[in-house]
This record gives sequence, C-alpha cells and structure tokens, in this order.
Amino acid sequence: VSGRHIDRIRRATDEAAARDLDALVVAPSPDLAYLTGYGPMPLERPTFLILRAGRDPTIMVPELERPLAASSPVATRIQLVAWRDGADPYAVAASVLAGSRRIAVGDRLWASHLLGLQAALPDASFSSASPVIGALRAVKDEEELGALRRAGRAADEAFRQIVGVPFLGRRELEIAAELAELLVRSGHARADFTIVASGPNAASPHHEPAGRTIQPRDAVVMDFGGEIEDYLSDTTRTVVVGEPPEGFVAAYAAVREAQEAGVQAVRPGARAEDVDRAARSVVDTAGYGERFVHRTGHGIGLELHEPPYIVEGDRTVLEPGMTFSVEPGVYVEGRFGIRIEDIVAVTDDGVERLNRSTRELQVVN
Ligand code: ZN
Ligand code: ZN
Ligand code: ZN
Repeated sequence: VSGRHIDRIRRATDEAAARDLDALVVAPSPDLAYLTGYGPMPLERPTFLILRAGRDPTIMVPELERPLAASSPVATRIQLVAWRDGADPYAVAASVLAGSRRIAVGDRLWASHLLGLQAALPDASFSSASPVIGALRAVKDEEELGALRRAGRAADEAFRQIVGVPFLGRRELEIAAELAELLVRSGHARADFTIVASGPNAASPHHEPAGRTIQPRDAVVMDFGGEIEDYLSDTTRTVVVGEPPEGFVAAYAAVREAQEAGVQAVRPGARAEDVDRAARSVVDTAGYGERFVHRTGHGIGLELHEPPYIVEGDRTVLEPGMTFSVEPGVYVEGRFGIRIEDIVAVTDDGVERLNRSTRELQVVN
C-alpha cells in the first residue's frame, strides 16, 4: 500500500516542478488520502502535507495527532513535524516552506489556513493545486477501477430491487429510505445520497425527497449512490407509475438516445466537451435543448464530483482510466423530469459502462 502512495507523492512532486511550482500544500481531504492514505478530520488545527522538488515529503501535524499520523501508511517514508498548541503553526509551516515562492494549495485547504500561510509567507504567491493533483486523480489505476466497478454493480443491484417495491401512494421519503437500505444491502459501506423526485418535483434535478405522496402517472427520478472501499457510485434512472404522463415517452426516448450518444463518444483522445456535445446535440435536435439545464457529467472517484467535467469548455483529453458520469436530463417545469445516468470508464480503445441497469423505461406499481 505504501509503495502506491509514495509513487503518487513522487508523481505529484514531479508534476508540480514541471509546472514551475516550488511547493504543494495539501490539507486533510480526499487529495491527502489519495497521496498518503492518511485521512484525519479537517480541523482548525492545521495539518499540512508539504511537497517540494528535491526535498523529503513532510507532513506537519498537531502534536496530539502525532500518534495517528505515525500509524498511517506512509509514516515511515515521510518526515513528520509536529507543532504544539500555543505555538504558531503557520510559522512552523513557513520554516518548512522557507525559500518557496510559488506555492499551490489543495482546494479543500480552509480559507483560515490559507490566510495564515499568506501572512506567514508574505513574499510567496499562491495558486490552486488542482491542475496537478486533480489531473493525477482523474486517471484511475486497476485497484481504483476495481472498487468503482464493484460500486457500480452494487448500485445496479439496488435499482433492480427498488423497481419491485410499491411506489403508488407512498411518500418520496419512504422510497428514499428503502433505496438507502438496498444500497447497503447490495454491498456499499454506506449510502451517501438517494434523490427520489416524483411528478412535478422531478423537474428539479437536485430535489430533496420530502413528504409528497406518489401519484398515478408520476415519473419518478431516482439518483443514488454510496461508497465501497472509499470509491463512490452514482447512477440515475427514471421510472413511471403506470401510464406515463402526456409528452413523457418522446422526451424519455430523446434522453435515452442522448445518453447512448454521450457514452459512444467516449474514447481516448476525445475531449471531455466532445462527450457533452454528443449528448446535447441529440437533445437539441429532439427539441428539448432549453430543458437540458446542466452539464452532461462529472468525474467520480474518491469524490462524487471531481475533474474532468463533461461540459463545454472542459478540453481535458480523455485517457484510459478516467471515470465519469454521462447523465443528460430533460426537465419540464410543473410536470415531470427525466434523467439517465451511468458511470463510464475510458478504456484503451473505447468505453466501459460501470452501470449496466436497464435503460428501457421501467413501469412500477
Ligand atoms: Zn447531480
Ligand atoms: Zn447522480
Ligand atoms: Zn452524477
């Protein structure tokens, strides 16, 4: 395990140097877990991983968390610096960072900590470490792909079972609770989110399930996911209760075709925005362009939303090992919503779907 982390630390350090950065500073976050396997809580007491070209990687921790840090996977390969309550942690960080002028910080470093670093290092300039660490994290190794595949399969199993439960006359919240239970029973360590949006509520893409009772002829959007071995699932299917509402069938066909077109556009060498264009042009041609109000997808891994983003303007060149969602939707205010979402992985010559649930319209009771 530690070899894998040391290798990631080395690649991040090299990439930072190639971009003319003197140092990377990473606080507790998925970035830190990715680089070191160490995952403490983010707190007002700063913990910083500090990476500089040609120097030993250093982790600065509060004294009371020294034992925790010392038992982490990379502890023996990394220099540990502890600071005690009452000392100025930013002065300690500044002494580790002495001579660094161009410093990139992780996105999850709190503003309070960045302000502390800026005050302690008045001559340094600060930028985002995302172009370095986000780009590394975007390309998954075999172990990561394995976890994402297992998460996808477990989410598919949860969907297979939820379509068999009664919907009519039950509240969105009840279905959401049942879905959460199925996610765990299908192998997730925990359920992270279960959007159940029925009837007019489905026109709100991030609807919070509530007390609405599901009616005959409702379309129900279910967007759900959880975690397996730190990696996440995220899938969406739209079902109908009995006869579909007026205008639904044609819109569903357009979303389904758009989702297929997006997935088929995925291959090494294509750009993230090409996938968005492929999906969006189908929705546009079908006449629902104005109703597809969000990007086509987002990267997924240790975080639910991470680079690359499948949106106009994201020119990331797709590489084997990248994983992201393809999730076009059409939302008709006051009436219904439709979204179909699968996670896909870029392969050496094309694409692999990590979700295999049927995309045929499912009629529930
Ligand atoms: Zn979303
Ligand atoms: Zn989703
Ligand atoms: Zn998603």
